[in-house]
Amino acid sequence: MADSRPIVGVLGVQGDIEKHLTALERLGARGRRVLAVKDLADLRALILPGGESTTISKGLLRHELVKPIQEFVYGGGAILGTCAGAILLSRVSRNHPVPTLGLLDVESERNAYGTQLDSFVAPADADCGDRWSGMECVFIRAPRLAEPGPGVEVLIRVDGEPVLVREGRRWACTFHPELTDDLRVHEVLIGG
Ligand code: GLN
Repeated sequence: MADSRPIVGVLGVQGDIEKHLTALERLGARGRRVLAVKDLADLRALILPGGESTTISKGLLRHELVKPIQEFVYGGGAILGTCAGAILLSRVSRNHPVPTLGLLDVESERNAYGTQLDSFVAPADADCGDRWSGMECVFIRAPRLAEPGPGVEVLIRVDGEPVLVREGRRWACTFHPELTDDLRVHEVLIGG
């Protein structure tokens, strides 16, 4: 029988690739590692995982994926960037520059929580609505998202800072949704 599950790609250059693939399988989607243009065919959505944005950015160039990913998104493909992936989606990385895809109307500030708060877990602010209530967010050398444009909706804040934002079918989160059992972020990506 043909496999009718939606296929969701995970950029396979570097970073937390496996855990995103596992999360997708748990939600009944088919995860596919994306390392070449042909891997973008038939995708419902694409995830740019957390990791090191400078390394991932070089990989995007090396694998000639910059334009094809931009075209995938301009053509209506859904995309989620988590942590380093959020940096890559932003229009500009404003402190430690890294070439970005410029697909989301926010600026990113890399390693914005400094060394003392390198990694931490924090709950979504109480006023984020039922959709996200109780979400525990894992931050690892996380960026901050700043200057969101008028089309950008903030879905989750932590201590008042936007940590999950959406612009149409483009999502960016500064935490690691693949590191907990709470798969609501992956769910909206597959559904939306
Ligand atoms: N600090 C990393 C960067 O700037 C991102 C960290 C992460 O993805 N967990 O690329």
